[in-house]
Amino acid sequence: MADQPIDQVNLVVESISSGMAVDVCSLYLANTEGEMLLLASRGLAAGSVRRVKIPAGKGLVGLVASSRHPVNLANAESHPSFYYVAETQEEHFHSFCGVPLVHTGKVIGVLVVQGRDVRQFSDEEQGFLVTLAAHLALLLANSPLATGEVANRNGRVSGIRGAPGIGIGYCRLCDHGELYAVANAPCDNVSKSLDDWHALLAAVRLEVQTEQAAIAGKLSDGVASIFSAYTMLLSDPSFIGHVEKNIRDGNWLPGALRHATQHFAELFRAMDDPYLQARHEDIHHLGNKLYNSWRGIQGADLPADRRIVLVGNQVSVSEIAAVPAGMLEGIVCLEGSSLSHTAVIANALGVPAVMGTGPIRHLANDSLLVVDGNNAQVMLNPDATVLAEYQKLEDDQRFLMKRLEQIREAPAITLDGTELTLYTNTGLLADISPGLVNGAQGVGLYRTEIPFMIRNSFPSEDEQVAVYQQVLAAYEGKPVHMRTLDIGGDKQLPYFPVENEENPALGWRGIRFTLDNSQLLMTQVRAMIRAGEDLDNLRILLPMISSTGELDDFCELLTDAVAQLQAEGYRVKRPALGVMVEVPAAISQIPFWAEKIDFISIGSNDLSQYLLALDRNNPRVAARYDHVHPAVLLEIQRILQMARLHRIPVSLCGEMASDPVAVVLLMGLGLRTLSMSATKIPRIKWLIRSLRLDTAEQLSEGAMTCMYPADIRLRVEAALQEAGLEDLFNRNTRGTPA
Ligand code: PEP
Ligand code: MG
Repeated sequence: MADQPIDQVNLVVESISSGMAVDVCSLYLANTEGEMLLLASRGLAAGSVRRVKIPAGKGLVGLVASSRHPVNLANAESHPSFYYVAETQEEHFHSFCGVPLVHTGKVIGVLVVQGRDVRQFSDEEQGFLVTLAAHLALLLANSPLATGEVANRNGRVSGIRGAPGIGIGYCRLCDHGELYAVANAPCDNVSKSLDDWHALLAAVRLEVQTEQAAIAGKLSDGVASIFSAYTMLLSDPSFIGHVEKNIRDGNWLPGALRHATQHFAELFRAMDDPYLQARHEDIHHLGNKLYNSWRGIQGADLPADRRIVLVGNQVSVSEIAAVPAGMLEGIVCLEGSSLSHTAVIANALGVPAVMGTGPIRHLANDSLLVVDGNNAQVMLNPDATVLAEYQKLEDDQRFLMKRLEQIREAPAITLDGTELTLYTNTGLLADISPGLVNGAQGVGLYRTEIPFMIRNSFPSEDEQVAVYQQVLAAYEGKPVHMRTLDIGGDKQLPYFPVENEENPALGWRGIRFTLDNSQLLMTQVRAMIRAGEDLDNLRILLPMISSTGELDDFCELLTDAVAQLQAEGYRVKRPALGVMVEVPAAISQIPFWAEKIDFISIGSNDLSQYLLALDRNNPRVAARYDHVHPAVLLEIQRILQMARLHRIPVSLCGEMASDPVAVVLLMGLGLRTLSMSATKIPRIKWLIRSLRLDTAEQLSEGAMTCMYPADIRLRVEAALQEAGLEDLFNRNTRGTPA
């Protein structure tokens, strides 16, 4: 089996060479210097493979790369670009056909076939190679051969930012067990397996409690409550029931556990929303934890005096908790996203983290690692000079950490006295506390999808009341903007899938789905209002509104819900109502809605995606996505102008709210309320407190005349640098207050 990427490439090269009956088939891969490495070959001298590097632009391979065009020659040696490389012993071959491998507009390699005869390859043969090269480019672009492995040669690997900061320590590989490799097997004794399952749950619940107690001392207050996500899952009837059913159907306990874990993890992984998508990692961690406990495997004790960098496909919260106090220097996840709970905890602990690096070669326990969370890079066995440089950066960031801590309780006020309001976005109950701890002045967006997604059927009104009440009570005295169910499209409920839509982003989602299922909406709205009884901080937010009719229908339902509850004796009143402005059509209709709503919240993620017609979660186009885009900024300016005219309070709750460049521009345009994930609040507050409003206004005025997003970013970044803020965004924040 060709499991490793290099084996797959060798197999492809072999297959092309035998399928086309050519004497040579070779694949060259570009490195960052533009040199072409001979990655695989059938036909050239074996000793040259993975050794020969053709300098950038040299030879026929260089010509194919620079022209981005096939080169098809009957006699290669007679071409002026011919460049002889002795190690390959290619003097026996005359015919040559090379085609470029292109990904996102850049040449990443060249596919070559050669033959002994002097003859030109036919149009069909060339066409076949061009087609193969297009497929191969896709395969290679996402392979560690093109990213990690090539980078590893100089010891540097890139990933995604998980948590900022610099950490230097010794690698500790995390063993997750191999739950996903467990096969189904017959269950010998169903009732014993069911008992074992419940005993296992009880044991792991206890383990989680112990770990929570251990880490609680390292984190301020509530961040450790992320463990409640685990506890919740361990008590979730649908998760427990799924395993039980699988056992009753005849599967042994580990097989049933794998089945349930995969089922729920995949449910989340398939979701549209990147935040919810990242929750699949929690389920995966928990499944492995249960499996390890079933196998009787405990985490190894770590020495108390060694600085540790935890490295694993994923790194679980339990593994973090097991590191002796003060010794965790960094976290590297080979898989995983910046929205995983691992990243949330790393941010809260102030431990740098890099996610999604892909495989790292030559990594072993006790290898020395530098984790640069600011630039999403990991250095393996760095030399003395590199190490010294990073040690200096580490010292600088400790200094900055102290400064951030000092403003935790301070208002988000500009140097010239304009105050902004900073809210948090949350979704899981376990994420409630980090907002408060980081100084959130309320919840700008509570995504209600999760209580619906982790079940086998729609949650009852009482069940929803219990969940919403905890959020509203935790933020008593502060506003909580609860969004009605935003599912549909790719955010599916397992028990009510919306299928067969050709264009789910434009389909039955958000308010369109819930209005058509008004019985669900009524239950949810009643639950929200009941949960807010006596608290007076509930605000209802509607997703994906695109027409006045939708708003009218909801208002009617809301009036009805309030009347029903009052008639039933609840002391409730009509809550404030707002809409997400995330469908471009909503913008022009703001004046029509002024009398119907109490506030608006700009959903800049969807608004940018619809304005630019770009799905940023689609890797093929993600690089083109930038919310700091003239079209997006101009529309936001229009929204703010209309909101001001009609006296509608406005906030923004998409990713722009935590992007420093965007925040400067939004402030300059007049926005005064931002909602972001909890851990981002201190840095954004720091930014606001370090700037004058008139500087932000000048910058946004200038930005409105730029036609390229990159120019806008350059201008604002230069200004931030001038204001002495580059440290905040490029270097530090190790130890951001939790
Ligand atoms: C948005 O679209 O900007 C938003 C905050 O909503 P979500 O990311 O949940 O779609
Ligand atoms: Mg949205």
